[in-house]
Amino acid sequence: MTSSLGRLKLGIDKRLLSCYNICMNKICTKCKKIKTIVEFPKSIQNKSGTSSWCKKCSNEAIYTRKKKLKAQGLCVRGCGEKLFSTNHCEKHFKAMISTSRESGRRLRENVLKHYGNKCTCCGETQLKFLTFEHKNGDGAKHRKKIGIVGGGSRMVGWLIKNNYPNFIEILCYNCNCARGFWGQCPHEAYE
Ligand SMILES: [Zn+2]
Ligand SMILES: [Zn+2]
Ligand SMILES: [Zn+2]
Ligand SMILES: [Zn+2]
Repeated sequence: MTSSLGRLKLGIDKRLLSCYNICMNKICTKCKKIKTIVEFPKSIQNKSGTSSWCKKCSNEAIYTRKKKLKAQGLCVRGCGEKLFSTNHCEKHFKAMISTSRESGRRLRENVLKHYGNKCTCCGETQLKFLTFEHKNGDGAKHRKKIGIVGGGSRMVGWLIKNNYPNFIEILCYNCNCARGFWGQCPHEAYE
């Protein structure tokens, strides 16, 4: 009796699951609204692969929880420590800064390596001096087009996303500035 009921239940679940995949709809157990599957956050704990609360409900729940913790003067990570920065305790604040800095540095180094790790004009290899530039010198125009202000980490992200376009080259700040000011680097003029 129990086993056949179990099998029946399993059958329904499977049918429901295939319905999710066909009609791509799911009911949020919090707001009870039917939403498309993309409106549910991914979840590894949940069998269906998505969370049972929609994104809006999940975000609201996280937001309220963080707001409550902040109001109590506690770290939003829920570690129970007192606030050090606007949202985090000292430990979590420092961890957050070092990971974002660290991963940014690593990403930049990877991209530099892809482009040859040195200034294409003078051969400067000190990574801190190097920057990404447009071969035909219209970097500012291009950055405006893709919506990136200045160079920096956002440019690194853009290069990775766009699969290292070959119209970009590495220049050191010296050569880059010289080209910007005089249209040509003194290194090129002496050649
Ligand atoms: Zn919802
Ligand atoms: Zn904390
Ligand atoms: Zn150079
Ligand atoms: Zn140069």
